[in-house]
Amino acid sequence: MSDSTPQENRESPQQIQNWTLEADKQDIAWLGLRTGSSTNVLSRQVLLELSTIVDALVAAPPSGLIIFSHKDGNFIAGADVHEFPQLRSTESAYEQVRAGQQIFDRLEALPFTTVVMLNGITLGGGLELALACDWRLSLASERATIGLPEIQLGLHPGLGGTLRCPRLIGVRSAMQLMLTGKPVTPAVALKMGLIDNICEGESWRAAAVEFVRRPRPAPVAPMADRLLSLGLLRPFLARILRRQVAAKAPRQNYPAPYALIELWQRGWGRSNALEMEARSFAQLVFSQTSKNLVRVFFLQDRLKDLAKVVTAKFNHVHVIGAGTMGADIAAWCAIRGLTVTLEDRDNTFVAAGLERAAASIRKKLKTDSLVADATARLVADQTGEGARVADVIIEAIFENLEAKQKLFLQVEQRARPDAILATNTSSIPLKEIASCLASPPRLVGLHFFNPVALMPLVEVVHTPTTLHGVVDSGAAFVRQIGKLALPCRGLPGFLVNRILAPYMDEAFRLLQEGLTPEAIDKAATDFGMPVGPLELADSVGLDILLHVAGIVGETIRRGLPPGLKELVNEGRLGRKSGRGFYRWENGKPIKNQDKNATYPPEAQRRLVLSLVNEAVACLQDRVVADADLVDAGTIFGTGFAPFRGGPLQYARQTGLSSLRQELEQLQRQFGERFAPSAGWDLLAES
Ligand code: NAD
Repeated sequence: MSDSTPQENRESPQQIQNWTLEADKQDIAWLGLRTGSSTNVLSRQVLLELSTIVDALVAAPPSGLIIFSHKDGNFIAGADVHEFPQLRSTESAYEQVRAGQQIFDRLEALPFTTVVMLNGITLGGGLELALACDWRLSLASERATIGLPEIQLGLHPGLGGTLRCPRLIGVRSAMQLMLTGKPVTPAVALKMGLIDNICEGESWRAAAVEFVRRPRPAPVAPMADRLLSLGLLRPFLARILRRQVAAKAPRQNYPAPYALIELWQRGWGRSNALEMEARSFAQLVFSQTSKNLVRVFFLQDRLKDLAKVVTAKFNHVHVIGAGTMGADIAAWCAIRGLTVTLEDRDNTFVAAGLERAAASIRKKLKTDSLVADATARLVADQTGEGARVADVIIEAIFENLEAKQKLFLQVEQRARPDAILATNTSSIPLKEIASCLASPPRLVGLHFFNPVALMPLVEVVHTPTTLHGVVDSGAAFVRQIGKLALPCRGLPGFLVNRILAPYMDEAFRLLQEGLTPEAIDKAATDFGMPVGPLELADSVGLDILLHVAGIVGETIRRGLPPGLKELVNEGRLGRKSGRGFYRWENGKPIKNQDKNATYPPEAQRRLVLSLVNEAVACLQDRVVADADLVDAGTIFGTGFAPFRGGPLQYARQTGLSSLRQELEQLQRQFGERFAPSAGWDLLAES
């Protein structure tokens, strides 16, 4: 046993369940975190226990303290978000946050050197704890990410992070970390000065001991940042930061980044800065934006849980059809560590698909060795032998019923009896494709979205006869490749395309009425959509939209969008042909620079209510199991303004009866397409 191996139990306080505290021969205290859940989070209990431990360390000071996690790949993933909805008032939130801050203050003030080992995910409160220590080490793990992502929940750090982070790494890097919420790798964190060393494997123990013997450092931000933090210059930098934020997140929708900048501008250097941080946090946690973003976080967890019924592991995927979708699905599966065989009608198509897949892999993975490994896992398979051994077979050939049936007839004979047989069809009813199989209930839809690498959702499409086990296995496979699985009934358009169709149709009508594409798209982005409907239409491809519109037209009570067929006939297909509603150059739409793209308020209402009304119809038709899943699918499948919590949540928060009246008014003005759908009563009950 080395000197640094913890051996004897220090005086461990009573009721400590989540921490272990041991001393080694050099009287260094080793404080390890092991919470009961799979991921370490800073619950109230964990913080209370830490407080007791800090008291014990003050009473009997060791020669140094090393904090670590017993869990592989996970230091602390942040505060326990599940405790947020339990907060009763801004005042009690403030008090709780203050109590947490005071624990970290006492940790910071301990009279000996403190070292923290970040052995994996270190987010939010986890990093704030680390910032209260003297030295921060990290493991050189690929899973290690370090960041302050509170902004993604409509918040900013509340446990001293808004103060300690700029003090350590300078206001510019700190603001980048906190305003984007994007975590960084250990290498980037080291460069920023956020951590002090990166260790390999078990050598971290010796490194931690070496650091704990060092004198305590005084955090010194770079000179330029210290200058920018001077009272006179602060308003100047704050203005620049606000302008940058405003370009992406308007204040009325996303108050947190503005609160964070304000805090720095007004509070920096003041003795009550921590109290100001706590006040601001407590207010934000009760904002509708934060509540809705926390809701989105829970919806994401719910989708992950849905995929947990089956625990099987999938190793080999066989993809048939090496076009846009097939190549991208194959690339994604290889990136996620699966062996992939790729089949097409002939060698030239397979080769083109492999080339496309290789480009996706290079774009996604950072190091040459990761790229080489993923590329090696993906192989051409013109003869389709892979289908004999694969765990999952995904068909992504032309959208043609006969072709798909012919293919599945052969595939079923080749496939292992327990392999998942899946189709990526966007529109052909599953039961029609399945009718060619000896065992139709075996077929499931795995509807990926384009571009595969960016879209988090996959609809797992089923019919009343699809085997439950197959749906569960399909969902488990989707989860294994890092996507969110949403079980959907096989009705036209499933959930996502059906909800988008009336919204896009309305955009076409506004265009026909004389509004510019820029104005229409602005109406949608002002509401909070990530891109407007016409830019989205151009990105998806107008030919594909035309096809989808034909499939869902009857269900959504609208005909083909006016003017769409004509555009497609002219060859204006959107981004892929360089021209649609916009001209496209280098993958970007050229928009009229006229900043005053104005629209009548009614235009925005027509777009939004078309979408919301269809979401309500999907609830009525039980396209997915319940209202929360309608919201989850819309957010993760369309990017629907997450701060609004989903279309049905938006309807609830705006008022169901007032929205219904608004729809009736639009119905009188524009016709039956605005008639309130049948599901409004069901939504009121849900
Ligand atoms: P694509 O035209 O880009 O590719 C189809 C590929 O299938 C071609 O490479 C073709 O050679 C191959 N193919 C055709 N018949 C074949 C056969 N019998 N055996 C082997 N290979 C064959 O099409 P895509 O856009 O990738 O669409 C594929 C499927 O994915 C369709 O069902 C489509 O509805 C669905 N989908 C498309 C999108 C999208 O945005 N493109 C999104 C979701 C789902």
